[in-house]
Amino acid sequence: MFSPSRVTVNRCVRLTFFISIPEFTFFHRYLMNWRGHPNDMLSHSALVHCQPIPNPTPLPMPELNSHSPITLIRGTFLDLVADPFQEPIAHSVRYIPDGLLVIENGIIQAFGHYTDLNSTYGHLPITTYSGQLIVPGLIDAHIHYPQSEMIAAYGEQLLEWLEKYTFPTEAKFQNPDHARQIAAFCLDELLRNGTTTAVILPTIFPESVQILFEEAERRRMRVIAGQVLMSRNAPSYLVNDAPTALAETREQIQHWHGRGRSLYAITPRFAATSTEEELKLAGQLRVEFPQVYIHTHLSENRKELALIRELFPHATDYLHVYEHHGLVGNRSIFAHCIHLSDSELQRFAQSGAMIAYCPLSNLFLGSGLFKLHQAKSQPFHIPIGLATDVGGGTSFSLLKTMAAAYTIAQLQEQTISPFQMMYLATLGSAKALGLQEQLGNFQPGKEADFVVFDTQATPLMKLRNPHVPAQSLDELSSQLFALIILGDDRAVAATYVNGSLIYQQ
Ligand SMILES: [Zn+2]
Repeated sequence: MFSPSRVTVNRCVRLTFFISIPEFTFFHRYLMNWRGHPNDMLSHSALVHCQPIPNPTPLPMPELNSHSPITLIRGTFLDLVADPFQEPIAHSVRYIPDGLLVIENGIIQAFGHYTDLNSTYGHLPITTYSGQLIVPGLIDAHIHYPQSEMIAAYGEQLLEWLEKYTFPTEAKFQNPDHARQIAAFCLDELLRNGTTTAVILPTIFPESVQILFEEAERRRMRVIAGQVLMSRNAPSYLVNDAPTALAETREQIQHWHGRGRSLYAITPRFAATSTEEELKLAGQLRVEFPQVYIHTHLSENRKELALIRELFPHATDYLHVYEHHGLVGNRSIFAHCIHLSDSELQRFAQSGAMIAYCPLSNLFLGSGLFKLHQAKSQPFHIPIGLATDVGGGTSFSLLKTMAAAYTIAQLQEQTISPFQMMYLATLGSAKALGLQEQLGNFQPGKEADFVVFDTQATPLMKLRNPHVPAQSLDELSSQLFALIILGDDRAVAATYVNGSLIYQQ
């Protein structure tokens, strides 16, 4: 049986050297029109990097054949069985204060009240989590693994931030050793935060994609990822040749899509960094492989919108650029979507595409306030998943991301319930990704990904939540809200992937 251990977190401890000044790119020229003096960009180019991070202590991974035939988990369970944006809490929330989860070969075989299942399974060994709250594994619908090491980068909004911090960092992923180190770190950090599924952008380098899938496979994590396509408007060290990149993407689809828990996404970074030719080739590849995802960014920042108008003068709006190339439909994932017009929202809603809502990133980069309630309500009902967008987002924690979503709702004189927030990070995201048969709640037949939260993880949380488990849905709502607002990785007691314990405090 796999023996869990605490994950070692490496830190960059000392600033040691500056990278060379990158060449001027389209963004530089474009941004000068906004920012003024070109020397600003030169000084901004003097990037500070950390020392190479020492090799992380390897996590003891569950062996692929290490499943005991049946695993039993007893504790307090919460999951969503319907959309709480549309259904009353009594119909959408399932709460079992003393429940039993029965797992066989990574799949949920039975779930219900302990008293109902005890006669069938009570003779088998049981792992009990008393006083804690077990929820389905969280789903991060949009994250950049190479940006793990440049999180919390100071002082810029999207386009400048890409130029100054992101592109030079992503250049380092030509080095497979570096890519493996950061991919492992990112996946372990996700697990440490209770996230068991993620939609991930690597870089333009094929090895950085291969390595990510390998590391996810070692952890049995479900990931959706694909080679980032960038054929213009980036430094030359980060620009691909479109036909070559699409040929590499085709090879990767054939190797990785549907292998184990891995799924592939054709990933143009965003319209501004792809030529018309590249978008067209991406659309053709989607026709060839209709089962794979499309993953990109849309309508994040107002300067970005102006840039798109300049680059695509024929397009009626930003969404039209992607529509024109057949990139909008089922299994299309668009991060942000803050500034969509009513027409764009209407067409988006009809397409079946999903929005990856990134509230922490939107606040940190000053991108704007996403209108969640508009997108989720009549007449749109757009599928939405919650996302950290690290490193635009400032935490790997989807609890902190939920808290940011709550803040943004409040700034718009709206509110969002703790159950709605949990839905966006579990069943809502699973449905939006078309993975509701595999993920999102504790229905038998689904994959056994789940997280054990300690709602009393800190002295303040214990003061706020003195009595567990909750005795009613009202009490549960209050405790869950406090977990979301006060909690982070400290509140993750354990994380299970595909039925195996993979992280424990
Ligand atoms: Zn992003």
